[in-house]
Order: sequence, then C-alpha cells, then structure tokens
Amino acid sequence: MIDWRAIDTVLLDMDGTLLDLHFDSHFWLEHLPRRYAELHRLDEASQEAIRARILREQGTLNWYSLAYWSRELDVDIVALKREVQHLIGLRSDALDFLRWLKRAHPRVVLATNADRESLALKLPLTGLEDYVDAIVSSADLGVPKEAQEFWFLLQEVEPFDPARTLFIDDNAAVLESAREYGIRHLLGIKQPDSRRPEKELEEFIALDRFAAILPGERPGDGEDA
Ligand SMILES: [Mg+2]
Repeated sequence: MIDWRAIDTVLLDMDGTLLDLHFDSHFWLEHLPRRYAELHRLDEASQEAIRARILREQGTLNWYSLAYWSRELDVDIVALKREVQHLIGLRSDALDFLRWLKRAHPRVVLATNADRESLALKLPLTGLEDYVDAIVSSADLGVPKEAQEFWFLLQEVEPFDPARTLFIDDNAAVLESAREYGIRHLLGIKQPDSRRPEKELEEFIALDRFAAILPGERPGDGEDA
C-alpha cells in the first residue's frame, strides 16, 4: 500500500490518529457540558445548548483553543481536562508504528490542530515527543489544517516535498485540504474513537491498523531490501 522508499517525510495528526479520540469526544460532548452546568449551577437543558455551541466552532482555530473555551465558558478547561486525563491514550498499534518509524527514519512531524495547552497535557502522558522529530501546532501558525494556508506556512517552518510525503489524519476535511495542497500519500483512520463505530472515508483509504502499511506485514515481505 505504501512504498516506503518513496517517502521522506511522515506528517502525523495527533487526536484520533495517534491518540484515541475517545478522550476528546468524551471531554467536549459529555464531561465539559456536565461540569459547565454544575459549575454555573444551570439545569440539565443547558448542557445541550453548550454542546451545540461547541459544535458550531468545529474546524476553526477556536474549536481547538483551550484558552478560547476557558474564556467563552468561564471555566478552567485545562483543570477540567485533568479530571478525565486517564482517558488520554494511544490508539491500538500507534506505539508500534512510531517505533518502526524511528528505526526506518523518515522525518516524522506531528502536525496537529491541538494548541500548546493541549500538547502540554497530552505529550507527557503519552510519550509522543520521543518518537517525532518536530511538533507543529496550527495554533502557532494561526490557521487550522483545514485551511490551505496552513500547508504553505508548515512548509516554511518544516520543509517537505509534497510528492514524497505521507500524511495520516482522521479528519476528512483536513485530508481534503492536504490533497489540494498536493501531498501525494494520504491515509485516514477507520476508528478514531475506540468507543464509536468504524467509519469509511469516501475519498480516502482508512486504516484499520498501522501494521497494514508496514513492510513485513505480508508473508514473504521482509524488511525493505
Ligand atoms: Mg484528528
């Protein structure tokens, strides 16, 4: 599926790709609305309104900004995240994939819409830093991955050849944006959230396990010659 000899750079999304999206789904759609209502002494119905308000920002930088939500909702988002931080974890074979990448050594870049506060929470709990050469947050660049401009700005801080780059992300809108920019090798994720059903991406191949794209997975296909 992937000819690794044709890849110099691997760009990896974090949430839903390397990490189980269950933490984020649970936090934004269950934990935060509930705690928001508790902290502001609001009734049950207000939780639905908060959910709708959160979902309205989907795909924007605000959606990914903990500072924005702390301000908007007048709560300490980081503190609330810490209440459920035990749910932060790697997807099934993500660690094996990262270990393999480290040995195969293409340049590995975490390209995430998560802001620096999210990264500060998640990196120490997951050890991702040990496996990537660089971390680029769209918050630092000022535009989310969904926007074309992101890729031009990324190119400036982290040069890559789009024809020799593999990008893996669970978000179809982001993959679409990467394709428009010209990134040649694109893969989605079949089950970003371990507690939710698998989904197919219409336009992209969705990975079940990372092992499926590693050499040596098929019988007789050993380490790259
Ligand atoms: Mg994602």
